[in-house]
Amino acid sequence: MIKVNNVSKWYGRKHAVDGVSFEVKKGEVLGFIGPNGAGKSTTMRMITGFIPISVGTITIGGNDVESSPIQAKKLVGYLPENAPLYDNKTVLEFLRFTAELRGFDGSEREKRVQKAIDRCFLEPVKNQSIDTLSKGYRHRTAFAQAIIHDPEVLILDEPTDGLDPNQKREVRNLIKEMGKEKAIIISTHILEEVEAVADRVVLISGGHKVFDGTPEEFKSKSREYDTVRLTVGNSEQKDVKEALDKLDSIQSISVDDIDSEHVRFIIKPKPTATREKLRDSIADIIKAEQWSIKEFCLGKGQLDEVFCQITQPKREEN
Ligand code: ADP
Repeated sequence: MIKVNNVSKWYGRKHAVDGVSFEVKKGEVLGFIGPNGAGKSTTMRMITGFIPISVGTITIGGNDVESSPIQAKKLVGYLPENAPLYDNKTVLEFLRFTAELRGFDGSEREKRVQKAIDRCFLEPVKNQSIDTLSKGYRHRTAFAQAIIHDPEVLILDEPTDGLDPNQKREVRNLIKEMGKEKAIIISTHILEEVEAVADRVVLISGGHKVFDGTPEEFKSKSREYDTVRLTVGNSEQKDVKEALDKLDSIQSISVDDIDSEHVRFIIKPKPTATREKLRDSIADIIKAEQWSIKEFCLGKGQLDEVFCQITQPKREEN
């Protein structure tokens, strides 16, 4: 549905995006992540036709965004960061106006407006002037504007920025729901959001694509992925190490000092063993030896650890 082919962008002499390619299919939510200044907004603005592409091509549903902008834009809903709204209008007036801009009138316009109001939970404030809305409702109004024409493609720049935890959950559920039938790109710096909604992750850093895969593949680069974590007091470190060394299902053990009194063992099973079985064997030893433990769990892998590991050498500060 969305094809970004070897796209670059220069702002004067600044090379903001450098040869980036990726695709998003219908029914897929792509989490687009990267440090500040990596080129996320620039890429999204090129996809939505807001700024020209320096080199490369982008197509939406087969329509080139530069040579067939009208056809391409019809398929796209865009929620920019800090979306501008008409403060002196009510929510209803604003959404009617947006629907008219998209070419709907009469009963079709009313149907579209009502559907967007329902999807974004705006019914209680639909007759309220936008300048009197809370941040959460303003945000949902901007979201409603982006989906008024029920587009096949949604481009959402930081869609949960500034929302409280309940509102974040609502918007994430909405994205997941819509992701079943649309192609969605969501840029975010909140990595838990990627886990919550994305089927795939593209990470860019310094204008380059540095990762493209599933959230699970992303996490699998973490040191703690598929491990067992065991944290004990310093005094038990030696005994624990000796006991673990006797288990033949272990591939490797690393030990971190986590504070002045505790150490954490990160224990990786052999490819032939599972971490659940390994955890059970270790649990038996803990019971038999009566160690006092501070933490004992499965290591799932940390998205933020991988993010830093991949992007830090090229990190740009804005
Ligand atoms: P992100 O959205 O990942 O934070 P941006 O796409 O906003 O990154 O920016 C990428 C790079 O391009 C940054 O170095 C930024 O300073 C620069 N940049 C963005 N917009 C402009 C502009 N209009 N003129 C010049 N440089 C810009």
